[in-house]
Amino acid sequence: MKLKYAPLLLIMLFSVITQPSCKSMKYADLILLNGKIVTVNKEFAVFDAVAVADNKIMAVGTNSEMRKLSGINSKIIDLHGRTVIPGLIDSHLHPESASLSELETEIPDVHTMEQLLNWITSRTHITGKGSWIIFPKFFPTRLTEMRQPTLAELDSVAPDHPVFLNGSFGGMINSRAIHLSGITAKTADPGFLKDKKSGSLTGFIRSSAFELLKIPPVKKLSADEKENALLEMLKRYNECGFTSLVSGTGNPESLKMYREMAVKKMLTARICQNMLLPSIGKITKESVTERVKQYAGVTTSGDEWVRTGSLKVFLDGGILTGTAYMKEPWGMKAGSMFGIEDPGYRGIVNLTRQELVDIVSVANEFNWSFTAHATGEASVELLLDVFDEVNRQKPITGRRFSIIHGNFFSNESIKKMVELGVYANMQPAWFYKDTEAMESILGSEKIKIFHPYRTMTDAGVMINGGSDHMVKWDANASINPYNPFLAMWTMVTRTTERGNKYLPSESITREEALKAYTINNAFATFEESIKGSIESGKLADMVVISDDILTCPENNIKEIKCLMTILDGKVIYTSPVNF
Ligand SMILES: [Zn+2]
Repeated sequence: MKLKYAPLLLIMLFSVITQPSCKSMKYADLILLNGKIVTVNKEFAVFDAVAVADNKIMAVGTNSEMRKLSGINSKIIDLHGRTVIPGLIDSHLHPESASLSELETEIPDVHTMEQLLNWITSRTHITGKGSWIIFPKFFPTRLTEMRQPTLAELDSVAPDHPVFLNGSFGGMINSRAIHLSGITAKTADPGFLKDKKSGSLTGFIRSSAFELLKIPPVKKLSADEKENALLEMLKRYNECGFTSLVSGTGNPESLKMYREMAVKKMLTARICQNMLLPSIGKITKESVTERVKQYAGVTTSGDEWVRTGSLKVFLDGGILTGTAYMKEPWGMKAGSMFGIEDPGYRGIVNLTRQELVDIVSVANEFNWSFTAHATGEASVELLLDVFDEVNRQKPITGRRFSIIHGNFFSNESIKKMVELGVYANMQPAWFYKDTEAMESILGSEKIKIFHPYRTMTDAGVMINGGSDHMVKWDANASINPYNPFLAMWTMVTRTTERGNKYLPSESITREEALKAYTINNAFATFEESIKGSIESGKLADMVVISDDILTCPENNIKEIKCLMTILDGKVIYTSPVNF
């Protein structure tokens, strides 16, 4: 009897769930049963089971409904009550450079001055005298002491090795590095800071002088070596549940590399690649037009594997190096930490207002979406002011312009973002790592507008969650940590790495945090109809996780592990932990 009625039941079920014609009737390739399928659909509905056919979600529903979609070749996975969420999307990171960052030497995870100096000592034991010891993306704000090491401290641990602590916009070198680079106290370059009284070099170096350091060129890698390193990096992202990434800074070459990898079916994550425009040198409407015309395609060009993102510029520096463009001077504390001598210094801004107007107008004319790295309050305001002006020439609303980082959002900025439909591409890792340093340098008043997740969400600004992963491979120890569960926990609890809770009224709900890493990021790349939630017809990108993110104790959110990652309907990662 059962056999006789089974096909009939199947037809009835199909008509309810997917309404295919009888001719196209099909069984599921993969069915996940007995779980909590957190769909992240409009109602945030949770179901027991989900079925996948080919690379798409076939249906979501009860166990019995999904069981009825199984054929003899269907693979069935019993979730034993585990939670499934949509494949995670990181809105801003740098996979290409991150993948190469530890090929040669492991970058240390240091939290104190002692750990930093110990690491340098350990390197002197392994490498020959005269070999450079370089720490990329070293931010003194992240040490407990919140200061740079002194020249004497660096010299004491590395008298015979040149040391360079590279903080992107500034850094420290030791006497050996100074000597080997042929720099003396008489060197007139303003990139080398001198002691006001004695006139001797302090070891502090600005990025403008980085090129004067006599560092041996890095080993050239072949295309294959780069590709392999990138594939390894993508695997690490998959282990955290990522199935899509927005690569923050790219160019025609990186886009081509991703496209070639997609053709060879090597990619284990979908890539959206932003395209960088120059923010130095002579910038005119004509020069920008010429550059944009060189970029094949436009925002959204490509397919579900590799897509072109927004045009991007670097508008200012960063908050960890005292180079973010602020409304008020950075102040005394920043002075000693970042080598700032001008009391009126407010950070750096790379473009004049007119240059920015020209760039954004061209992007808008050619129908690109536009985004900018803007890390300080004043650069956010400048950018929004320019967006506003360009919007009056030709509307930008609906074009999903965004601000990368932002960090400090005044009420006026938030209001403008809502009016213009500008998204906030934010990095909770910075809140987790850097709130104390920002409070100490800029004062507690500024912290009230630092990452105001609740105010922005309530106002209607879409928050896109990203890591800004730059270097180091470990999900939690990297700069910046890319573990999405740590980031979501940060947004929900407003707790920092140092254990302090800041403005809990600015926290968002678990559902909102999950949206920031799924459907919101699908919106940011105009892909909300194909991914970002577990709904019939969407791409089958899903993650099985170790705990129920919606109901587990709050502190467990950051401990959640990815047990299985499904991309395009295929299991691409399974954790060694059984479930
Ligand atoms: Zn970045």
